[in-house]
Amino acid sequence: MRIAFIGLGQMGAPMAQNLVSAGHDVIGYDLATPATPPCSLAERLEDVITGAEMILTMLPHGAAVTEVSEALLPLIAKGTIWCDCSTIDIASARALHEAAAAKGIPCLDAPVSGGISGAEAGTLTFMIGGSDAAVSAARPVLEVMGGKLVHCGEAGAGQAAKLCNNMILGITMIGTCEAFILADQLGLSRQALYDVVSTSSGQSWSLTTYCPAPDIGPNSPADRDYQPGFSTALMAKDLTLAMQAAKDTGTPAALGALAHKLYEEFASDEAMAGKDFSAMLPHLQSLIRDR
Ligand code: NAD
Repeated sequence: MRIAFIGLGQMGAPMAQNLVSAGHDVIGYDLATPATPPCSLAERLEDVITGAEMILTMLPHGAAVTEVSEALLPLIAKGTIWCDCSTIDIASARALHEAAAAKGIPCLDAPVSGGISGAEAGTLTFMIGGSDAAVSAARPVLEVMGGKLVHCGEAGAGQAAKLCNNMILGITMIGTCEAFILADQLGLSRQALYDVVSTSSGQSWSLTTYCPAPDIGPNSPADRDYQPGFSTALMAKDLTLAMQAAKDTGTPAALGALAHKLYEEFASDEAMAGKDFSAMLPHLQSLIRDR
C-alpha cells in the first residue's frame, strides 16, 4: 500500500520502519528531518500525500494534528484512509473525524500503548475509534505495527480508552512508589514487599511488569537509571488530557487529579521530565521529612 507517514519522532520512525520492512511504499514527512530516516521523505507536507491510499499521523498533540489535517484534507483523494495514532484530546480527535467525514475520508483515532520498544518490535496495542469499515480497511497495515488491535467504538473511543488506561497507570504507579517508600521507613525490605504484593491484592502492572524499585522484580527502567520507557513528561501530558476529559464530562476523579498534580510538579523539573515516569520513586524518596 502507498502510505504517507507524518511525524517521524521516537514512535513514528520505528513504526514507519516496520511498514517499509513489510513491503509497503512509505513516504514520510516531519518538521524536523530525522537523523536516520526510516523511509523516503517528502520535502513539503503537501507532497507526502501524492498517490497515498492511507495517511498515518504520529504527532505530539492535538494542535499539530489539526494543523496537518487542515492543510491536507482539502487535497486528498476521496476514500483515502486517515489514521491518527497520536495521543490527543478527545475534542481534537472528534473534530478530525468530522472534518474527514465532510470530505468523504474514512477516519480512525488509533492511539497506542507499548512505548518505543513496542514500536520497534511491532507489538503496539492499538485502541481504535471509528467505523467497522474503516477499521477493516486499516487492519492489515495496523497489524504490521501492532500485536493487538482493539476496536473500542465510534469516533474518539480510542482516545477515551487511552486516557482511561493511563489515568489508572499514573495512579497505580504513584501508589506502588509510596508503598515501597513506606516499607523502607518501616524497615521492611523492598524484596519482601515485592514477593508479597506481586501475588497479593495490591498487585498491578506497575509492580510486576514495570517495577519502580531497582534490582527488584522484572528488568525495568529502574534498572537503567530510569531511562525511559515512558517519560514523566508524557505521563504528565496524558494526565492533563484525562483531567480535561473528566472536567468536560463532570466526572469525579479525585485520585486522577492528584496523580496529575504530582506528575506536573515532577515534570516541571527539567532534569526529571525526560526520566521514566517510574522515577516517581526516588522523587518521593527525596521528599521524606526528618522527624
Ligand atoms: P516525538 O516528539 O518524538 O515525535 C513527534 C514528531 O512530530 C517530531 O519529530 C516532530 O518534529 C513532529 N512534528 C510536530 N509537529 C509537526 C507538524 N505540524 N508536522 C509534521 N511533523 C510534526 O514524540 P513521540 O514520542 O514519537 O510521540 C508521538 C505521539 O505518540 C505522542 O502523541 C505521544 O503522546 C504518543 N505516545 C508516545 C509514547 C512514547 O513512549 N514515546 C508511547 C505511547 C504514545
